[in-house]
Amino acid sequence: MAWCEECDILVEDTDLGAEGECPACGTILADQERQPIPWYFKLMIVASVIYLGYRGYQGVTWIAAHV
Ligand SMILES: [Zn+2]
Repeated sequence: MAWCEECDILVEDTDLGAEGECPACGTILADQERQPIPWYFKLMIVASVIYLGYRGYQGVTWIAAHV
């Protein structure tokens, strides 16, 4: 099911149009969040976590060396 904010109604999946649009107003309601997260997006998050962790570690050691 999808929620149409334009019409304030719940639309059954079976009532959605071919493109996932609301039958009443035609707004695309296809739920993007329900689609699986692409692997490269996960990889990007992992990479930034590792990078930020590394930078954080660098920052802590820098501060420790300059106190
Ligand atoms: Zn609608």
